[in-house]
Amino acid sequence: MKAPAPVNRHHIKKPEYKQSESMDLLSSTQSIIKDAIKRLGYTEEMYELLKEPLRVITVRIPVRMDDGSIKIFTGYRSQHNDAVGPTKGGVRFHPEVNEDEVKALSIWMSLKCGITNLPYGGGKGGIICDPRNMSFGELERLSRGYVRAISQIVGPTKDIPAPDVYTNSQIMAWMMDEYSRLREFDSPGFITGKPLVLGGSQGRETATARGVTICIEEAVKKKGIDLQGAHIIVQGFGNAGSFLAKFMYDAGAKVIGISDANGALYDLEGLDIPYLLDRRDSFGTVTNLFSDVITNQELLEKECDILVPAAISNQITAQNADRIKAKIIVEAANGPTTLEATKILDGKEVLLVPDILASAGGVTVSYFEWVQNNQGYYWSEEEVARKLRKVMVDSFAAIYSISQSHKVDMRLAAYMVGIRKHAEASHYRGWI
Ligand code: GLU
Repeated sequence: MKAPAPVNRHHIKKPEYKQSESMDLLSSTQSIIKDAIKRLGYTEEMYELLKEPLRVITVRIPVRMDDGSIKIFTGYRSQHNDAVGPTKGGVRFHPEVNEDEVKALSIWMSLKCGITNLPYGGGKGGIICDPRNMSFGELERLSRGYVRAISQIVGPTKDIPAPDVYTNSQIMAWMMDEYSRLREFDSPGFITGKPLVLGGSQGRETATARGVTICIEEAVKKKGIDLQGAHIIVQGFGNAGSFLAKFMYDAGAKVIGISDANGALYDLEGLDIPYLLDRRDSFGTVTNLFSDVITNQELLEKECDILVPAAISNQITAQNADRIKAKIIVEAANGPTTLEATKILDGKEVLLVPDILASAGGVTVSYFEWVQNNQGYYWSEEEVARKLRKVMVDSFAAIYSISQSHKVDMRLAAYMVGIRKHAEASHYRGWI
């Protein structure tokens, strides 16, 4: 059986950017970490420890393809810092995965776990592949091969993978099965984001969008905007973007724009989100069914109250930040706004809720899943939702208050909150 494929396989076009502007996620992250560490009063040695992952492995995975040929895939697993506890973070399957990106993403996972106060350091994995062109059988063999290749450095008390871009609960199930076979005992706590019948948690699939929703609710209060009738644009219609559009629609907000990798739909009267959700394919493609489509870049610049970039990195840059009209930006994607653009938006008094806070709902419910697996006792959807709300509301409040008291933007405040726990734990362990 072939995985359903979108008609058009182009990616969202990268926007223009100034030559001097850094699009490099790793160096941008390092420069904010440096600032955060200094403001927290830690030494240069602490920055040297935390600026790079402790461990990164590259693996080569041979996979028998359906046509009988063998293809060798390259994958990575990066573990940023395990002073607090085991590392945690997703695995992405994407043609543009590269080592530096995986490293940066693992640092972000440390920051997310620090912000939400989870007992984890950050990890991340990735495989260079295009799952949109692979069959279920090929994807299963690749997933199992990846687990065999990294099995020595992962495990329920070492490093716990999860879904990320273009990976899902089926892929988590194959990976969990492979790990359990290797260890010869059932190990549901090895990986999160599993199907419910294999020890997944209620509410995990929608967790990222729920977390973003809670951030939006907190942000509109700060800006004195009523969510009922507020105009919202969501870039990206994958796991985070599509559920978020639905939650906003259900809350009575007007979702006036959505997009996928091929283009964007825009209607000032509000889009019929349930209709669009019904028609999206498993990769979040829906705009190919319409003729009246604008570009992703045009969509970002439309008038709205709340803009949610929920697609890929480097979408809001120094080139287009001036033309962004939203009053609030909530980053559901990882790294959608460059550092220079963040400064421009801060100057325009746009309230920007940074990725490492806004998208932390996913890893928070992953933590709940792991706790449930470890204790073998499962919670109701209401219990998960209540616990997630508390984590997100408290995290938002802590970061907002640091940003006010230190007179820094929300991104720097989030880095200060997020990195502190890892610095402190590394210090107590006597590493620095
Ligand atoms: N991939 C998600 C993230 O980037 C979730 C990670 C997890 O659940 O461990 O936050």
